[in-house]
Amino acid sequence: MKSFENLINGKMVQSTEQIEVVNPADEKVFASCHSATVHQLDVAVEAATAAFPKWSSLKVEERKNYVLEMAKALEENAAELIDLLIQEQGKPRSNATQEVQYTSLFAKTTAGLNLANQTLQDTDEMRIEVHYKPLGVVGAIAPWNYPLLLGYWKVFAALVTGNCVILKPSPYTPLTTLRAAEMFNKVLPPGVLNVLAGGDELGRQMVEHPGIHKISFTGSSDTGKKIVAAAAKTLKRVTLELGGNDAAIILPDAKPEQIAERLFWTSFNNSGQICMAIKRLYVHEEIYDQVCDELSKIANNTVVGDGTNEDTTLGPIQNRMQFDKVCDILEDVKKSGARILSGGEVPDKPGYYFPVTLVADAKKGDRIVEEEPFGPILPIIKFSNVDDAIEQANDSPYGLGGSIWTQDVEKGVQLAARLNSGTAWVNQHSVVLPHIPFGGAKESGLGVEGSVEGLKHFTEAQVINISKA
Ligand code: NAD
Repeated sequence: MKSFENLINGKMVQSTEQIEVVNPADEKVFASCHSATVHQLDVAVEAATAAFPKWSSLKVEERKNYVLEMAKALEENAAELIDLLIQEQGKPRSNATQEVQYTSLFAKTTAGLNLANQTLQDTDEMRIEVHYKPLGVVGAIAPWNYPLLLGYWKVFAALVTGNCVILKPSPYTPLTTLRAAEMFNKVLPPGVLNVLAGGDELGRQMVEHPGIHKISFTGSSDTGKKIVAAAAKTLKRVTLELGGNDAAIILPDAKPEQIAERLFWTSFNNSGQICMAIKRLYVHEEIYDQVCDELSKIANNTVVGDGTNEDTTLGPIQNRMQFDKVCDILEDVKKSGARILSGGEVPDKPGYYFPVTLVADAKKGDRIVEEEPFGPILPIIKFSNVDDAIEQANDSPYGLGGSIWTQDVEKGVQLAARLNSGTAWVNQHSVVLPHIPFGGAKESGLGVEGSVEGLKHFTEAQVINISKA
């Protein structure tokens, strides 16, 4: 069985411990990787620290060229990465292909962003400039739903701004990230990028490490809170992209047959394991039954299966822990009096397969409405008054995204602005692009990624204030 190695100081290295990686399609261990030790983390931080002076003093265009070379490496090796991603994450080939392509797109777009020093004042008395300086060594910690994209998005932004990086993928999905690291190692100078697989404990050690100056984290809100607490000891900078329980509000003038496909796929793509997927669907009573019917038709045509099968449209849930959580929420739904429109019966076979489950007549207070399931199960809630729907949408500790669906775009924009979320879409949802800032309100995050705003989070703003007197 193949065991993947870690990237430290320009070399692929082994360790004394292993992480076994399970294919969620059949629950079998299919490969393993070396799990980095505390000592190896120290060595990686030393290497990143040593690489930093030269890397940060390169011209920004030179660093951008390195990131463009990384994009090229992804494109040249896409087929291998896609196969590996399907095996470890479970997603169907079309989704795995999209993730690899998106990762390359994010590299190229990030390399095209310009974070220039600013002159705030230039008068006879004074010239005042703001310089954006890299922080030093950045620790990037990633989840398992989009392992390649979410891990390396951080890396591209950190590298372009002049930092060196230690990246830790999720222990559930370390392989594509490690294999890509091996490819990037042919492109980058040693020490600039280090990729260490490990469990939650390695993540904790990164957050506490005095040689790491910033943590850029994507994962659950619970872990985000622990990171903030632990980062306080060294006053590390943190960017947190956390959980969500996004609401979509469908106004009575929306056309169910026109929007159903978009609603469905922004809820169920990647088997619902997307932070900014629609997780609560509020539908006006006038079109409630129609929306339920349209969504049920699409649900009945989906194929949940092994990602390697060409006809599969939705793969399994990625891991046992998450599968058990979603099954538990389904049991609550069955007791709650809500109506199951599709799915609802979990097959008794190997693999974390969960059917597309639409839950009508869900209501405030139900667990499925209050919690983030992070799986293919969606509550559909009826409303009669739009102010009430907005209030319910905002009545959540989360605030990642939200959307309004209507033919009256101006009204949509006004209502979207009342959603307490990092992003509010009109007539779409889950659209995240590298040139647009992305972040969460409330317990969904701190700071943003993407765009020039996101680049700033990898820098310290220094004011240079010159007297002309
Ligand atoms: P998680 O928080 O359990 O783990 C994420 C990463 O953090 C893993 O690499 C893990 O090993 C590490 N980790 C765990 N405990 C740690 C600690 N105390 N200190 C440092 N690192 C630690 O999350 P997950 O289950 O992998 O991902 C699912 C969650 O991520 C969902 O809530 C989802 O909404 C969220 N998510 C958010 C975004 C976003 O951009 N906002 C994107 C994807 C996923």
